[in-house]
Amino acid sequence: MPKVAIYPGSFDPVTNGHIDIVERGLKLFDKLIVSILYNPSKDYLFTLEERVEMLKDSMKKMKNIEIDSFDGLLVDYAASRKAQAILRGLRAMSDFEYEFQMALMNRRLNREVQTVFLMTGLRWIFTSSSIIKEAVQFGGNIEGMVPPLAQKKLMEKFGIAPGPGQSGKN
Ligand code: ADP
Repeated sequence: MPKVAIYPGSFDPVTNGHIDIVERGLKLFDKLIVSILYNPSKDYLFTLEERVEMLKDSMKKMKNIEIDSFDGLLVDYAASRKAQAILRGLRAMSDFEYEFQMALMNRRLNREVQTVFLMTGLRWIFTSSSIIKEAVQFGGNIEGMVPPLAQKKLMEKFGIAPGPGQSGKN
């Protein structure tokens, strides 16, 4: 049976930290389903369609990847997709408590689905979708922190014209 993992998240937007986890996850699993959790009560900067588009564009050269979205319980979604694992990334200690709680809850809900954690690459330890949104909002240069389409769309959202070294082009 192929080893399939779900990599769930908000991806609002996808960052190079996410891409790093995906690239390394692909070395462990036969297939990764990168899936956007759609929570109607949460405020996102980008629509679900925009987030799907940015994820697809950033992973278009990768094999054994599928981009999807889901709502409801993650373990139910994993079972419906015949995935044996949930992949998550860990940055600092601050991620740990929440991730630990969630992994234990998911295990309680379905013991067949294992949560696998990958440590962030050192380069991406301070990279998060929310900090990137804050930086770009005030004109900060986020080149190299997000894939090109995400950079372009972030700058458009905040009405920022590309500056030197900030092309936002693919
Ligand atoms: P969520 O809202 O579920 O935290 P995110 O899109 O922020 O969704 O993140 C999805 C997953 O990717 C989480 O497991 C998160 O810890 C991980 N992640 C986010 N940024 C990084 C990064 N820079 N390095 C490693 N893992 C990361």
